[in-house]
Amino acid sequence: MANRYYTQVTGCLFCRIVARETPADVEYEDDLVLAFKDIYPKAPIHVLIVPKHHVTSIQTMTAADVEAIGRCLLAARTIAERVGYGERGYRVSVNCGEEGGQVVPHVHFHLLAGRRRA
Ligand code: 5GP
Ligand code: ZN
Repeated sequence: MANRYYTQVTGCLFCRIVARETPADVEYEDDLVLAFKDIYPKAPIHVLIVPKHHVTSIQTMTAADVEAIGRCLLAARTIAERVGYGERGYRVSVNCGEEGGQVVPHVHFHLLAGRRRA
């Protein structure tokens, strides 16, 4: 899908993945959202779900981003159901900012499943 429809930020890793300039193992896509496997999985299921347009973090999101961010959560549920964890359960988390553990400055939801938390 052409990247010209989305706000892209030069040098942003997840914008590059959305634009298919950097390869990723895509799990889900719709008009607003892309989801792909985390390259360093921390659970048997570990998928990253991002808005296709650039939003740096929860801290910088605006009302204009609400639909795409909400759609990320629906995508998390869809993916969890597809891989058999809808009923069993899963975790969705977001890191925000440096002290919140956010490393990639394009907002993303972690979908984690298949491992019970201690
Ligand atoms: P954060 O710490 O920002 O919440 O999460 C960033 C996530 O991106 C990490 O879990 C990390 O493993 C993942 N990641 C970093 N670089 C890449 C990459 O090039 N491709 C993919 N698929 N995931 C990546
Ligand atoms: Zn970006």
